[in-house]
Amino acid sequence: MSHPTLKLLTGQDRRLRAGHPWVFSNELQMDAAAKALPPGTVVRLAAADGRPMALAQFNPHSLIAARVLTRNKDATIDEAFLERRLARALRLRERLLDQPYYRLIHAEADGLPGLVIDRFGDLMVCQLNSAGMALLEAPLLAALDRLLAPRCVVLRNDSPVRELEGLPLELRVVKGELAGPIPVQEHGLTFMADPLEGQKTGWYYDQRDNRQFTARLGKDQRVLDLYSYGGGFGLAALAAGARSALAIDRSPTGLDLARAAAEHNGLAGLVTERADAFAALDRLAADKERFGLVVADPPAFVKSKRDLKVGLKGYRKLARAAAGVVGEEGFLAIACCSHNVPLEAFADEVRRGIRDAGRGARLLHQAGAAPDHPAHPMLPESMYLKFHVYALD
Ligand code: SAH
Repeated sequence: MSHPTLKLLTGQDRRLRAGHPWVFSNELQMDAAAKALPPGTVVRLAAADGRPMALAQFNPHSLIAARVLTRNKDATIDEAFLERRLARALRLRERLLDQPYYRLIHAEADGLPGLVIDRFGDLMVCQLNSAGMALLEAPLLAALDRLLAPRCVVLRNDSPVRELEGLPLELRVVKGELAGPIPVQEHGLTFMADPLEGQKTGWYYDQRDNRQFTARLGKDQRVLDLYSYGGGFGLAALAAGARSALAIDRSPTGLDLARAAAEHNGLAGLVTERADAFAALDRLAADKERFGLVVADPPAFVKSKRDLKVGLKGYRKLARAAAGVVGEEGFLAIACCSHNVPLEAFADEVRRGIRDAGRGARLLHQAGAAPDHPAHPMLPESMYLKFHVYALD
């Protein structure tokens, strides 16, 4: 198959050669012909001297101008190619998990840049987050059909990152029908997800193992699940023997899911509260409420590198306020899902926040996303999730 060739500028091919999957727009010879290519076109990337290097998806309007699909310069990017990538990702998930509830495709790390697929049994929720993936929608859905024959496929193409690619925000059910929340199986519990109305794809699989680790710390305790969404942390703690769980989120959708899941699992002791997390923490502190386990799993405070300074302060403030309502010898679990925040910076803000609260502490556990969210080794920002658990004095 013939693809237009795009050359890198002299001396700009070192990162690509070292295995990085992206080329930025200022590293390419952007002539008029290149600029005229439709966003998402598959191109052959070549060094300045003309040696071919990789096949990539090209978007002349995006800062991440080229995303590598394969180093095999003779590959054909078609349904069969996509099916092989999907099948490889599926084999990995089947080694990791015994139930079909997981992130099937995690973008670059699974060799499909810009694509996320979360699997809920025979329902797939896809995010086509790059112009290249948007252009491959038809062969991709055909490949998914051949491999897994899903009953229902939802395109949750409403992530703001699509705007950077010049793509519209949309939500489409492209196969089958879906009405309302669906069950999710996780470590022996059934949660409820909402692929249409809920956050992101409808469920946060990345916290699966962190929920399991943290749950035991809440046994016989009162648990506070801040930024609870569907109550994953609080419900897991209740199932592990917590006395009660207070789930707080500003979105009613998440809290509805949490209550439905509590009922489904026969778990008593869940209380939900629709509130801003910081306002709720102020009230709880004023009322001298204390919890044996506090989990704080906020949305990204740092949405872009420009917000880094302000956003980092948010993690310190959150750690301080959350530590303030942890009872004696209780636990604080705090997460950061901002890919722009380096691990050390997050760790530092949390340490400071706990100290600001006047609490002594030991770091008990550090983790990232569950392994169905693999990271591309050359994209440290794909290790976006940071999760720290402290035992307080
Ligand atoms: N802990 C959840 C995931 C949390 S995602 C889980 O285990 O699945 C972040 C959540 O924070 C979202 O549900 C969002 O509605 C909520 N949120 C965002 N801003 C908030 C705020 N200011 N106060 C409370 N909740 C907020």
